[in-house]
Amino acid sequence: MELMEETLTRLESHKTQEVMILMERVNKWYQDFHVLKDIDLTVMAGERIVICGPSGSGKSTLIRCINRLEAHQRGRIVVDGIELTEDVKAIDAIRREVGMVFQHFNLFPHLTVLENCTLAPIWVKKMPKKEAEALALQYLQRVRIADQAHKYPGQLSGGQQQRVAIARALCMKPKIMLFDEPTSALDPEMVKEVLDTMIELAAEGMTMLCVTHEMGFARTVADRVIFMDRGEIVEQAPPEEFFLHPKEERTRRFLGQIL
Ligand code: ADP
Ligand code: MG
Repeated sequence: MELMEETLTRLESHKTQEVMILMERVNKWYQDFHVLKDIDLTVMAGERIVICGPSGSGKSTLIRCINRLEAHQRGRIVVDGIELTEDVKAIDAIRREVGMVFQHFNLFPHLTVLENCTLAPIWVKKMPKKEAEALALQYLQRVRIADQAHKYPGQLSGGQQQRVAIARALCMKPKIMLFDEPTSALDPEMVKEVLDTMIELAAEGMTMLCVTHEMGFARTVADRVIFMDRGEIVEQAPPEEFFLHPKEERTRRFLGQIL
């Protein structure tokens, strides 16, 4: 619990009054397994949310529903004013606005770093190749990896690959970034370089939902920490309150295990 005593530098909040993501009584089942139970969640533009909770509690499923990598069966999800339904146009429109970074990077192994970054802008946004490359290099520069642009993912370290994955997502100029345990597959010495990149993004005002157990990151960056267990949002609060005065027994038990 030593972390608690540290003086922490909190990033300035960029939270606005504009609703970016609205989830209303969202329910989802995998066959007969009820994985999301009456999820109510409103995320404002510029807000930074950290989601934590035990393995299997539904964290990945929740964020994957936001860009329709998974479909919900009941309730409403509205992203930047567009409601997620079966309508393919709506799904496409939302996917253009939402960038996602996965635990295992999910880069295309047979494409160079640069090609990984230009693929979606060229094919989805119909951007001319030259323009897409210039844009990609700009974002690769921002994650400090432009010098690796012509290498293949397999030639990079895990931390470098994850920074490429972040740059690749940013090349679509998303309004929202979703992170699903982006550092949990990394060797310990590479965690910081990825978290630093995420902190920079947060400082620039990106709307972010991050599933992570990096509680130092949560304390620096999060406007709100959400604790999930068994498909439910059990508790949510600003980090100070969440870590120092968790209300629910389940939250206390979880924090006791990870801090
Ligand atoms: P978390 O990210 O919190 O670990 P997940 O959202 O990945 O949790 O999974 C929640 C639960 O749903 C787990 O019990 C998992 O086994 C189950 N689950 C996840 N994906 C599927 C799937 N495609 N089909 C069936 N069950 C799944
Ligand atoms: Mg998960």
